[in-house]
Amino acid sequence: MKMNQTAQSWWFIFYKDQLLLEKKEDGIYAIPCEESSPIVIKEKTTVHNITTLEGRNCKTFSLSSPIEESEQWIMTGLRASYEYLPLSHYQTAGKAHEILHWDRNSRFCSACGTPMEQKESIMKRCPKCGREVYPSISTAILVLVRKKDSLLLVHARNFKGTFNSLVAGFLETGETLEECVAREVKEETGLEVKNITYFGNQPWPYPSGLMVGFIADYAGGEINLQDEELSSGDFYTRDNLPELPRKLSLARKMIDWWIEHPNE
Ligand SMILES: [Zn+2]
Repeated sequence: MKMNQTAQSWWFIFYKDQLLLEKKEDGIYAIPCEESSPIVIKEKTTVHNITTLEGRNCKTFSLSSPIEESEQWIMTGLRASYEYLPLSHYQTAGKAHEILHWDRNSRFCSACGTPMEQKESIMKRCPKCGREVYPSISTAILVLVRKKDSLLLVHARNFKGTFNSLVAGFLETGETLEECVAREVKEETGLEVKNITYFGNQPWPYPSGLMVGFIADYAGGEINLQDEELSSGDFYTRDNLPELPRKLSLARKMIDWWIEHPNE
């Protein structure tokens, strides 16, 4: 793709999951927007053109070492960048992070071991056997289980924090999303659910997921937690909620919806 060399681009520059932000006036942090990269691009670094945003190209690349905080720059975790950036910029940062993750993990052909060649922004091809690879996405479900005026919240051992959230789990090959919902609730809590309905979805670039949210009603069973994955789980009423996940997650959006819709 031929790029307009004089146009400004948004630069999504990462060191691992740390994103480079430019300090602006009034304490605002922003994605740098310049004609060429504000940070020197080392040899053998691939710069990916990922998409456009507000009419400008978006480019991303990885650093081999972090940028020290200065009057101009700060690096922040991708999750934390949600607090500083407009939503569309946070989402594009997530896409950039997924592309970089894919690039790092698809250097060799998984069939014959030959170094892969990048052919398009989201496609590599093996020059020996012709195998093509695209960024893969892991699909996971989230389910808000209702029981009268309460909802089911759990604390999974892999949560980064003390908050409680919805039952979640990865889709397995050969199952529908609804089957996955019923299976995950049963496996993790011992409960049966019914009336499984779609709520919404959200890209989840940690490192490359898609979360698909469902609402379901309790249908039977006693809570019997899967100890390996969950450290707690129970039904909570609106006036007795524990610490909830942060605002950036679909889980929190679903819980907030439930709080605001007591009669649905
Ligand atoms: Zn190959």
